[in-house]
Order: sequence, then C-alpha cells, then structure tokens
Amino acid sequence: MTSAVVVKAPSSTANLGPGFDVFGLALDAFNDEVTLTKTKSGITITTEDNIPTDPEYNTAGLVVKNMKKKFNIKEGVEIKIKKGIPAGFGMGSSAASAAATAVAVDKLFRLKLDGNSLVEFAGSGEKASAGSVHYDNVAASVLGGFVIVKTNPLEVVRIEPPKDLRMCIAVPKINVPKRKTKVSRGVIPKKVRMVDNVLNLSNASTIVAGFIKKDSEMIGRSIRDVIVEPARQHMIPGFLKVKQNALKAGALGVTISGAGPSVIAFATRSSDLKKISSAISKGFASANTECKTIICKPSKGAVDMKQ
Ligand code: ADP
Repeated sequence: MTSAVVVKAPSSTANLGPGFDVFGLALDAFNDEVTLTKTKSGITITTEDNIPTDPEYNTAGLVVKNMKKKFNIKEGVEIKIKKGIPAGFGMGSSAASAAATAVAVDKLFRLKLDGNSLVEFAGSGEKASAGSVHYDNVAASVLGGFVIVKTNPLEVVRIEPPKDLRMCIAVPKINVPKRKTKVSRGVIPKKVRMVDNVLNLSNASTIVAGFIKKDSEMIGRSIRDVIVEPARQHMIPGFLKVKQNALKAGALGVTISGAGPSVIAFATRSSDLKKISSAISKGFASANTECKTIICKPSKGAVDMKQ
C-alpha cells in the first residue's frame, strides 16, 4: 500500500498580457515540493516557509479537504510543503502547492483522475489565497506547457510551447500585501471599450496561433494588453521604465506576470537574454527598487518524484 507520495510542481505565469484569467504558461524558474502521507484522521500541514498552516487557508490544505470530501476518503493526510516559489509575487506559488497536492492525492489514493479533473481540484484550492477559484496558474502547473482555460464548464487545452521560447523574469524586492491577488483584482475595470476588447482579442488570438505554429516571435510580439496592465501598472515601481528598457534591449513583449508584482519579458533563445535582464534591473533601480532576475523556459507539469 502506498503511504507517502512526493510531487514537484513548477512555477507559472498567468495572463501573458491579453489572456487575463485564460492563459497560463509553466516556467522552469522555481518549483514547490509536496509530500503527502496517510494518517489516521484529519489534515495537518508542516512547512518551514512563511505560509498559513491552517488547511482552510492553505491552497494545498483546501485541495486535500475538497478531494477527501468528494471521494469520501476517511483516512487523514499529512501535507509537508517545501516552497521553492516565492509566495505572493505572481509566479504561481499558491497554485503550484495546490497543483502538486491534487496530483499527489490522486496517486496516494489511486484515484486515476484525468487532467481536467486534477486542474479542477487544484483550482478549488486557490480560494484559500485569492479568495476565488481560478484555474490559469494551476492548469499550467498541473499539465505543463501553455494552457488555455475555458470555464463553465471547465475545459483546459494544453499546447506544447516552441523549443526556442525564453523568458526573463524579474521579482522585485518589495513588500506585497497579504491576499495580493484579491487586492489587484479590485483595480481591474468593470467595463471595457470595444476598441480595447478588439485589440486584446486579436493579440490573444495571435498568442494562441504562435503556440500552435511554434512561432516564438509571434507569441512575443502579441504580449500586448490594453485593458488589465494599464490598470495595474501603478502597483509596480518603475513599471513603464522596466518595460521600455526591456523592449529596447530586444525583448519581444513585456507584461506583468499574473497579478504581479513580478514582470515577465518574452524573447527567444537567440535574444541577448542577459542584456534584457540587466535592462530590467536598471528599470527597477530607477524607481529605487532591487529585483532578482531569472532567465527561464517553459516547463513540464507536476511530476511524481518516485516514478
Ligand atoms: P502567488 O502568485 O504567489 O500565488 P497569491 O497572492 O495568489 O500569489 O498567493 C499568495 C498568498 O497565498 C500568500 O498570502 C500566502 O500566504 C497564501 N498561501 C496560502 N497557501 C499557500 C501555499 N501553499 N503556497 C503559497 N502561498 C500560499
């Protein structure tokens, strides 16, 4: 009988500009590792990281709770979380714990769920951090690659990214508010102009086409959002300068990663990625903000470490 399962899940970027709440891309920048062990009863969380340990307020805890209830699992579960993804920076940290946990519960109790169901359970855990269920980060973290999330009913489409796609991520060293995702959802406009909708829709469409055609340049130059990014950019110190610098250094497109405050620049293997990173750092420095930059590529999804 399986008594412990270890699953690793990658960081991810949501939105990719115009694909707000719809697009996600798994990134090999960071990983979370979750170990699940069967116990007699209840749900306990152990971690050395600064995240909630009450199962109700931890994305992994909520996933276990929801899956236990759905499949009428009477045994208890201990969840050990080792965080590699900084929490609250728009790198899909809370989602990766949820994604790894959904996959681990599936293995531990031999549920044999399909990808869509795993994403659905992982997404239910996001309520613990964001206050609402959303699937873009968890879908990328569970399945890997580029994902499109259609809701009502949930249908997730995965596309294998082009091999030469590269990203530069910058994580600024600033204090993020607790429940940041909830705060940054609050600034999004309730109504949009039709011209803006058309522009975003056309860019979102060419992002999808770029992934299908394996054309990284098409993806990069379509990372353009005139609806959500303008409403959120004031929350990121020096954002306009960061973006301008990165584009000048050869980035194809630059936007906020998820709900921020991390910024992501899209490029290809043949771009000068170090030049783009240092241009981004200089942009943040112009607003007296330090940042950590990481050059990364698309990642595969959550993996059982014992397989
Ligand atoms: P992120 O982009 O990092 O997921 P969010 O603001 O959506 O950012 O989530 C981070 C918040 O979620 C933090 O306040 C953190 O305390 C809370 N949280 C709950 N469970 C977890 C978890 N397992 N991993 C990371 N953060 C978690």
